[in-house]
Amino acid sequence: MSKILKEWEWKYQVFFDEEVQRKTLAFAENLKREEKALFLKQLKFYKSFYTIDVLIEALKNKNLNQKKVLEKALENKALCAKTDQSIYELIKAEINFESNEVNNKVLKLLDYSLETDYDVKFINYLMLCFHIQDFKNIIEVIYKKANQKQETADVREIKADKETILLEFNEFMNSLMKNESLISDYGSFDNSDYDVKVEIDSGYGEWWDKDLYEEYDRDTLILYSNDETINSNDFHYTIIHEVYPGHGHFFRTVKKQNDAIDTGASLLIEGYATYTEINSLKSAYTNNLEIAYAKTIINALNLNYDVLNKGSIRLVNQKKGYLESYFFGCFAIEYYVKNKFGSPKSFLEFLSQSNKGDFYKLW
Ligand SMILES: [Zn+2]
Repeated sequence: MSKILKEWEWKYQVFFDEEVQRKTLAFAENLKREEKALFLKQLKFYKSFYTIDVLIEALKNKNLNQKKVLEKALENKALCAKTDQSIYELIKAEINFESNEVNNKVLKLLDYSLETDYDVKFINYLMLCFHIQDFKNIIEVIYKKANQKQETADVREIKADKETILLEFNEFMNSLMKNESLISDYGSFDNSDYDVKVEIDSGYGEWWDKDLYEEYDRDTLILYSNDETINSNDFHYTIIHEVYPGHGHFFRTVKKQNDAIDTGASLLIEGYATYTEINSLKSAYTNNLEIAYAKTIINALNLNYDVLNKGSIRLVNQKKGYLESYFFGCFAIEYYVKNKFGSPKSFLEFLSQSNKGDFYKLW
């Protein structure tokens, strides 16, 4: 498994991190001619700017020379993208380096970024990844979905202690693995060799494939318990997204010894997992989720900061494409499955024979 780009956050590292730059370029050499051309354009997009959050992360990265990072930021001030006023204080609170000189310089750059006219829109990345007609069709579908009616979803609270979570997980996972309609749509899930851990942190869950990420030596599912109880819907659809038919099933099915995989291709990887959330076990909850996702992606692409929450604004403004990839990717996968592949299973079969990246345009 040597053709894997394991730097899954390369899009937000490549501006300042030369080692990540080197690895992305080496990865490109594994691709077919057209894929390579497209990947290099994607790389160019993410090297054409930096944001203050991207800079702060680089400055906090122990593997990088802080002085060099700051020099590069100052030399390339013109490529510092605009910061939205509404998240100024949030970002400022994180400028807390040991050196006052560093703090002052970053603060100055932050102030500068409020005033600059230079901004980079994620929609430009999408224009690289999709044929214009497909893009228009997907947008049209998203607007229709945003106008659907909300329904009332049944919900049960689950106690969030470790034992209950593991019990609930096993029970629900077994029901998914025996679900005939999922098996026929996606193929069966044949991986029982993975660890399940319950941890306290933000979010719902994460799946780490042992071959694709440095973080774990065994396939690992992390489930998060942050409160006294969790909502059964959030819990179940997290398992769908993370394990089956989401990430765990996806990686298991599509990774092949000789194919290249860009783990940073979030339009594909997160798009697919989010697609499984709203298409596996249809319910009032998934209907509402679909509406919420459609509205969020419309607001994110239109930069309607006044209706997004601060956390979303920060992602849209500072980590371009991070949030959008889940939702645009989800509706894009739905569109391609419907119009090109016929079923999720044939989509996965197709991918298992190809290199894996944000290559929608080439399908
Ligand atoms: Zn995910």
